[in-house]
Amino acid sequence: MLTTRRSRPAASEWIAPIAILPLLLIPALAPTPADGADDAPATFRAGFAEADVSPKVGDEAPGGYGKARLTAFHDACKARAAVFDDGAGPVAIVGLDALLIRKPQVIEARRRITARTGIPGERVMIAASHTHAGGPTGMILPGEFDSASELIRELAYEKTVVGAPDYLEKVVEGIATAVAAAHAARVDAKAVAGQGKAEGVAFNRRFRMRSGFTMTHPGVGNPDILGPAGGIDPQVGVLGAWNAAGDCLGVVVNFACHATTGPPGISADYVEHVERTIRGALGDGCVVVFTAGMAGDVTQVNNRNPHAYAQFGNVAARRLGAAVGAAAATALLALEPSAAPLLPLAARSQTLEIPRRVPSPQRVARALTLVQAGPEAKVDPTEWTFAKELVLLDARLQQEPIAPVEVQAIQVGPAVFLSCPAEYFVDYGLELKAAGPFPVTFPVSLANDCIGYVPTEDAMGPRGGGYETRLTSYSNLVPTAGRTICDALKGLAAELTPGPVPLPAPAPPFQGQPWSYGNLPPELD
Ligand SMILES: [Zn+2]
Repeated sequence: MLTTRRSRPAASEWIAPIAILPLLLIPALAPTPADGADDAPATFRAGFAEADVSPKVGDEAPGGYGKARLTAFHDACKARAAVFDDGAGPVAIVGLDALLIRKPQVIEARRRITARTGIPGERVMIAASHTHAGGPTGMILPGEFDSASELIRELAYEKTVVGAPDYLEKVVEGIATAVAAAHAARVDAKAVAGQGKAEGVAFNRRFRMRSGFTMTHPGVGNPDILGPAGGIDPQVGVLGAWNAAGDCLGVVVNFACHATTGPPGISADYVEHVERTIRGALGDGCVVVFTAGMAGDVTQVNNRNPHAYAQFGNVAARRLGAAVGAAAATALLALEPSAAPLLPLAARSQTLEIPRRVPSPQRVARALTLVQAGPEAKVDPTEWTFAKELVLLDARLQQEPIAPVEVQAIQVGPAVFLSCPAEYFVDYGLELKAAGPFPVTFPVSLANDCIGYVPTEDAMGPRGGGYETRLTSYSNLVPTAGRTICDALKGLAAELTPGPVPLPAPAPPFQGQPWSYGNLPPELD
């Protein structure tokens, strides 16, 4: 057998350098900011906190391609933060109850977080839950089209939902406040990472049709449906932490479903019930940080539902949220006996440059004619809206033909969060989970920016189509974008070495003494 193992030096060689150079050796033994399994940090601390970022009644309501307003209050929208610290390189995960968050707000929130906690920006993941009942964080940002023509400015600012400066500041400050509070609240902790399952509550919304292509939401009971055009992911990812006294500090939950149940008014959508259910089982002090999985094509609506029941509103929010929360709580309580420090911590971030699709000049010209037509032209409102979107895309292409796309990996022991800023299709999330090398993978969508829908290549191909593949100022990356992002995320995960999965301590050996009440044959008389 060949061996290249180095033998231990003789005792005299071994001791001498240590005796002579103790001061030089000490720094090498201290933890370094560089992450990696070999550093074997000695501590594991966790902190959780949340901040209210509810918008006001009357604020603009993003979620569609036209103007809308928030008309009532239902439940709080929050910035929810988890900080994990190995004594050398902390990482932060933020779940934000918002439709989306754009890059300028992520940059500013990270800047404030670094200033207040020292955590570098690339070690902070800020992910939107995609609640469609949240505040005006987009679609368009104030000032985004200031250098464009008067027509473009009117289409962008008067005909599309625009982020509100005061609300954007509230969100940025809320995120920074929550992370700083979570950082300040760090205590020695034990944690687990794993999965539960919530089945029958989330459905793919895209279907192969008899026509030969794919439709989004073809309508409940549509007889032309052949079958779903993509998968679902019923796994509920959980990463929960407890303090030394056994109190739940918080949990990060990961689930792939659009937050479109639409309770009446401002709301975190079904996340409200995820939080209620987990707190019911693990205690009111447990902070619930929700991260949306790759849910670009997944919804609570069952287009093949044979029964008549509410698929929207409070009832639907509770049905979905309680199912996800119960699956999370069940998994956490089952895993709790194995809770231990989850190490190592690590983070990677990379910015891809992905081109946008370019509509033909003829198509842009037709769209321009349509949006400029007066009311007497009686243009179909949907047709007008998508024409408006095409004209705005043309303006966006003048400014930014290539989209910067941040992909990020944050490792907590045997678990990894893999994020992109897209409404990314669930089949990529499933692929990331299957690819490894981590035993627990949390795919996170709409993180650190928003680049709209990124469908699979199949959805962009001849059998594809539907809503998510429409060309708009919001969704417009080239058809290969999905593959590029997936491969980049796999590459980031492959750079990291998963930590061990903690196992519960083995039961003590048999003590030689059965229970004295239970060691008898049946007493028959
Ligand atoms: Zn969406």
